[in-house]
Amino acid sequence: MSVDERRVRSLNDRAVQDGPVVYWMSRDQRAHDNWALLYAQEKAIERNVPLYVIFNLLLIPIRANTRQYRFMFAGLAEVESTLTAHNIPFQVLHGEPEKVITDFVKAQGVGEMVVDFNPLRYARDRREAVAGALPCLLTEVDTHNIIPCWLASGKEEFAAYTFRPKVHRALSQWLTDIPKLKKHPFDSGVKISPSDWDGYLKKLSLEEIADTAFVPGEKAAHKHLQSFISSRLDTYHEDRNDPTKNGVSGLSPYLHFGQISAQRVAYEVNSASENSKEAREAFLEELIVRRELADNYCFYNKNYDRVEGAHAWAQKTIAEHVNDTREHLYTKDQLENAQTHDDLWNAMQVQMVEEGKMHGWCRMYWAKKILEWTPDAQTAVDIALYLNDKYELDGMDPNGVTGVMWSICGVHDRAWNERHIFGKVRYMNYAGAKRKFDIKAYIERYGRKETLFN
Ligand SMILES: Cc1cc2nc3c(=O)[nH]c(=O)nc-3n(C[C@H](O)[C@H](O)[C@H](O)COP(=O)(O)OP(=O)(O)OC[C@H]3O[C@@H](n4cnc5c(N)ncnc54)[C@H](O)[C@@H]3O)c2cc1C
Repeated sequence: MSVDERRVRSLNDRAVQDGPVVYWMSRDQRAHDNWALLYAQEKAIERNVPLYVIFNLLLIPIRANTRQYRFMFAGLAEVESTLTAHNIPFQVLHGEPEKVITDFVKAQGVGEMVVDFNPLRYARDRREAVAGALPCLLTEVDTHNIIPCWLASGKEEFAAYTFRPKVHRALSQWLTDIPKLKKHPFDSGVKISPSDWDGYLKKLSLEEIADTAFVPGEKAAHKHLQSFISSRLDTYHEDRNDPTKNGVSGLSPYLHFGQISAQRVAYEVNSASENSKEAREAFLEELIVRRELADNYCFYNKNYDRVEGAHAWAQKTIAEHVNDTREHLYTKDQLENAQTHDDLWNAMQVQMVEEGKMHGWCRMYWAKKILEWTPDAQTAVDIALYLNDKYELDGMDPNGVTGVMWSICGVHDRAWNERHIFGKVRYMNYAGAKRKFDIKAYIERYGRKETLFN
C-alpha cells in the first residue's frame, strides 16, 4: 500500500533535487505507523537514494520543564535505535530551524524534505521559515489525523455536530491498517554519532518537575493500548466521566508526542469486537471526532487562543459580563499553588501537578472556575493554558487549546442560560460535580491542606 497523495501537500515550489530524502520529524515522534516517514521512504526508494530522519532541538525550549523533555527524549531515543536498525540515520540538529536545517540540507546534498503536520502557530511559522530557506522541495504529510485535516473539512467547523457527519462519511476509506517501515535499501555512507540525550537535557537548563508514572516510548504506548483494550475499553462509556475510576484510556501523553498513531489506536479499538459496541463508539467519538475537531479549529482559526477566536454569540456575552463582580479573585501563583477556597478545584490542580494528567471531566470544571476567579476571559484563557501546558504531559496540543476555549469561551458549544460572569457560556458548579461523582473520595485522594510547593 502506498501513501495516499491526498495526505501530502507542498510547502514550497522548489524542485526535487538529486540526493537523499530527509524526514524532519517533529510532532509525530515514532518509527512505526508514521505516514510521513513512510512517504519519505517511498520517495527515497523511487529514486534509489538514502533516507535520513532529523529532529530539530531549539536551544531556547518551547516547553519549560524536565518532565515533558524527559518523556520526549526517552521516546526519541527509542525512535533513534529503531531507525538505526532500519538503516535510517537519525540526527538531532540544534538551533534555529531555518538555519540548521538548511545547512544540513546543503551539506548532505539533500534532494527533498518531508515534515509532519501541526496546526499550532509556532510550528507553522517554523515550517514556513524552513520552506522559504530550503533549496529543495518541502512537503508536509498529515500523519497525526486519521483523515487529513485539510480534507476532513475545508473550513472551521462550528461544532462537533457539523463535523461528525463529514468524518463518518469519509472514515471508512481512511481507517485502514498501516504498512510496515522497510529496512532502507540504500546506505547513506555517513557516520552519525549517537545522540546525547542527557547532555541535551543539561544544556537546556529546564525547571525540574518530577516525572510521572507514564512510561515513555512507542513500545510502552502499545503496551498501554493493549492493556486498555483488554481491561477497560468495555466499560469506557460508563466509567469515563467518573474521576474516581480508572475509566479512561490514559493514551493522551502518547498521542500528543506522536509516540503512538491515532489511526493505529482507532484501528485496534474498532477491530476489538469482543468489546461492547457502545463502548467502542464512545471511545472513537473522542479519539476521532473530538480530537480531529481540535486540529480543525487550530488550523482554520488564526485567533485560536484569543477571545476573538470564539463564536460571535460568545464574544458578545463575554463582553457584556466583563464588569461583573468576582467574589473570589486569584493570582496565577495562587492558582498554581492550589490555594483557592474550593477543595475540589485544589485537588484537581494537585492531580495535574503530581500525576501530569488531570482527569478529562475535571479539566472542564477546572478551566471554568479560572474564568470565575480571574478579571476577564482572556486572562483566564492565558492562565489556563499556562498551567495546562506546563504540567500536563499532553499539554501544548490543539486539544488543550480547544478544551480551554470550549470551557471559557464556548468554542464548539451553544449558548446556555444567562449567568453571572459566564453570561451564556456553559456553567459548571460544585453541586453539579457532587451529583456526578464521589467528590469526597477524589478530594481525599488528591486534596492537601499545605500548599503544593512549600
Ligand atoms: C480545559 C481542558 C484542557 C485540555 N487539555 C488537553 C491537553 O492539553 N491535551 C490533550 O490531549 N487533551 C486535552 N483536553 C482534552 C481531554 O480532556 C483529554 O484529551 C483527555 O482527558 C485525555 O485523557 P485520555 O487519553 O485518558 O482520554 P480518553 O477519554 O481515553 O480519550 C482518548 C483520546 O481521545 C481524545 N480526546 C478525549 N477527549 C477529548 C476532547 N475533549 N477533545 C479532544 N480530544 C479528546 C484524546 O486524544 C484522548 O487521548 C483538555 C480538555 C479540557 C476541557
